[in-house]
Amino acid sequence: MAFSETMLRHAWAWAGGECECKHDGHGHSERCTAVLKWEKRGKLVPGGWECVLQTPLEQGGAERAENFLIVCLRCHRKMRKKSEL
Ligand SMILES: [Zn+2]
Ligand SMILES: [Zn+2]
Repeated sequence: MAFSETMLRHAWAWAGGECECKHDGHGHSERCTAVLKWEKRGKLVPGGWECVLQTPLEQGGAERAENFLIVCLRCHRKMRKKSEL
């Protein structure tokens, strides 16, 4: 999914450079808070991350920073797996 750089920066500032995932069953309690690096977006390396929509567009979610979730790639992969089932 292509997000604008501006919105990504906004969401990133909200996340404070840490994974915002709060999924149960990911092995982290409450929020994940993995420390991320801006320049590692989409890379499967320590500090790698992706931006996802908290509420998908097809479920009425908006393409706005408030609906963005910055997640580490470990969480991102787990989320993908879940939705592929
Ligand atoms: Zn995470
Ligand atoms: Zn997670």
